[in-house]
Amino acid sequence: MALADNLNSIQQRIRTACDRCGRDPNSITLLAVSKTHPPQTIRELSECGQLLFGENKVQEAKAKIPNCPGKLRWHFIGHLQSNKCRDAVELFSMIQSVDSLGIAQEINKRAEQLAKTMPVLLEVNVAGEASKFGYKPELMLAELNELNKLSRLEIHGLMTIPPFSPVAEKSRPYFRALHELKDRAEAVLGAPLPVLSMGMSDDFEIAIEEGSTMVRVGTALFGPRQKTVAKEA
Ligand SMILES: *Cc1c(COP(=O)(O)O)cnc(C)c1O
Repeated sequence: MALADNLNSIQQRIRTACDRCGRDPNSITLLAVSKTHPPQTIRELSECGQLLFGENKVQEAKAKIPNCPGKLRWHFIGHLQSNKCRDAVELFSMIQSVDSLGIAQEINKRAEQLAKTMPVLLEVNVAGEASKFGYKPELMLAELNELNKLSRLEIHGLMTIPPFSPVAEKSRPYFRALHELKDRAEAVLGAPLPVLSMGMSDDFEIAIEEGSTMVRVGTALFGPRQKTVAKEA
C-alpha cells in the first residue's frame, strides 16, 4: 500500500538524518499534514500507526475530525482568526500558529470557558516576509512574558514556515534562526521550550540537522493535495 510505503520511507529518512547529526530519532515527532485529504485516507494512515495529524483550516477540520478515528490527535497549523478560536480549542490538542497577543488572549478566554488548558506554539516569521503570518522575532520576545501569564495557555515552543524555495538547503538559515530564537526565548522565560516545529516534505532532514523536534509532512506522505476538499468519509 502506497501510504504505508510513504510512511516507512519518511521514518527511514528521519532516522538517517538523525544518524548524520547524532540525534535520537525518538526525539522527532512526525505530524502528518492531512489538509485536503478525506477521512478514509487519514484512517488508512492511522492503521499504519500514525496517530498525529495537522490541519490548517478550522472549517475543514470541524467537518472531517468527527469522521476520523477517535484516538487521533490533531494540531492546528493554519492562520487562526478570533471567530474560530472556540472551535479550534475544542478540536485541537495543540495550536501551532499563535502569532499575536490578541489571538493568544482569545484562545485563553475560550479555553477557560471550556475548562481546558491549551498547549500552543508561537509561530515566528523569521525571514520577515511581508506575505506571511507569524510573529516578528523581536515582538515575540517582547510579548513573551505577557503571553506566559495567560493561565489557560501552555507555551511549548516555536514554529516557523521558511520562504518557499525549490532548493531545500536555502531553508537552513531560517531553521538555525528559529533555534537561536528558542534559546533566547528560554532565557526570557527562565524555562525550557521543548518543541521546535520546523521542516516540511522538501526540507525536513535539514530541519532535523538544525534541531527540529517536530516535522510537518504533507505531500511526501499523502501525495499531491486534493483540489476539492473532501469532508465526508
Ligand atoms: C501544508 C503545510 C505543511 C506541509 O507541507 P508539505 O510541503 O506538503 O509537506 C506544513 N506546515 C504547514 C503550516 C502547512 O500549511
